[in-house]
Amino acid sequence: MYLDLTAVFGNDGASVEFDRKIKLDGDDQEADPNFISGIHCKGRIYNRAGMVEMDATADFDYQAPCDRCAEEATHHFNLPLQHKLIQHLSGEDNDEYIVLGSSSLDLDGLVWEDVILSLPMQWLCSPDCKGLCPMCGANLNQTTCGCKKPVDPRFDILESLLDS
Ligand SMILES: [Zn+2]
Ligand SMILES: [Zn+2]
Repeated sequence: MYLDLTAVFGNDGASVEFDRKIKLDGDDQEADPNFISGIHCKGRIYNRAGMVEMDATADFDYQAPCDRCAEEATHHFNLPLQHKLIQHLSGEDNDEYIVLGSSSLDLDGLVWEDVILSLPMQWLCSPDCKGLCPMCGANLNQTTCGCKKPVDPRFDILESLLDS
């Protein structure tokens, strides 16, 4: 959805509020089924002394298999979204601003980008997931198996040092 920000850019103190489900690129949820209940975005864009800022949050649940144990893991996110918006770039390039090129904002596109960048590189069911046994494949969060860990040669050296 495009938000028309003409009035916000033109008037100090003006603001616009939004509270909506973000439409994903392509066929909505089908574009990424891991967002099991979509993305809900709520917040406002306001003009404070000529500077237009966005202050919002994105709420979503993301489900994917754990990188260690392969069980489906769902986590809830409440992501703060803060941006400074400008219509046209004046002066040198600056990462601090979102440059619109006009007075309308592709809200869904911006939120979608923030959400994707916020997802962790490693997806775990819990930070202390024990993973799968490398020998027998048992899920070590649910069971203990009888496999012996292969001995790390560095510990052999340590042990021989301790023995002497
Ligand atoms: Zn796990
Ligand atoms: Zn095992």
